[in-house]
Amino acid sequence: RKTTKIYGSPIDIVTMESAFERFKQLLDRSAFSFICTPNTEIIMSARNDEKLIEALKSSDMNIPDGIGLIIASKIHKLGLITRVTGIDLMGEILKFCNYSRKSIYILGGKPGVAEMAVYNIKEKFPNIDVKGYRHGYFKKEEEKDIIENINNLSPDILFVALGVPKQEMFMYGYRKDLNVKVALGVGGCVDIWAG
Ligand code: UDP
Repeated sequence: RKTTKIYGSPIDIVTMESAFERFKQLLDRSAFSFICTPNTEIIMSARNDEKLIEALKSSDMNIPDGIGLIIASKIHKLGLITRVTGIDLMGEILKFCNYSRKSIYILGGKPGVAEMAVYNIKEKFPNIDVKGYRHGYFKKEEEKDIIENINNLSPDILFVALGVPKQEMFMYGYRKDLNVKVALGVGGCVDIWAG
């Protein structure tokens, strides 16, 4: 794994291909892994948010999802190659899940949005095993039940679309509790899939 640093946050030096290879490596591990998709705004807010920077430091890959990061890298010669977006990586992962029959769970978005996203995903990728979905507007007290429910379903991949920094804090905070292989913070991607 090769990374560079922007304002203290590690960013992986990847292309779509190598990011996807890294994802598959993480999926093959027995332990939980999580992937973040930082753009410039996330990196800027991490400067003043110790917890967020901690989450980004302990994640298993941070793909450069933001043209601003590539521009900063060009100016300061930080080594980033190209922008790799969360929506594109999610698409590759879904395609992979479709032919390898892996299972997913989608957490996040307004009520009805994850359901719509699942509907559209199933239409495009009928072989994906969708274990479940849930909207992302819940109280702290509900989190234990949400985790328990996800763990009972034990999907291979968990897409977390709670916005920044909620999704990063969720994956980082529950890294020792989640019984999934790989979690991916996908921000507004669920809205895009919902159409
Ligand atoms: N979201 C959520 N729960 C929250 C806040 C946001 O599920 O408590 C969802 C929101 O509905 C959207 C996604 O997270 O689908 C991204 O939210 P937003 O665009 O506000 O965040 P950003 O990605 O810009 O940080």
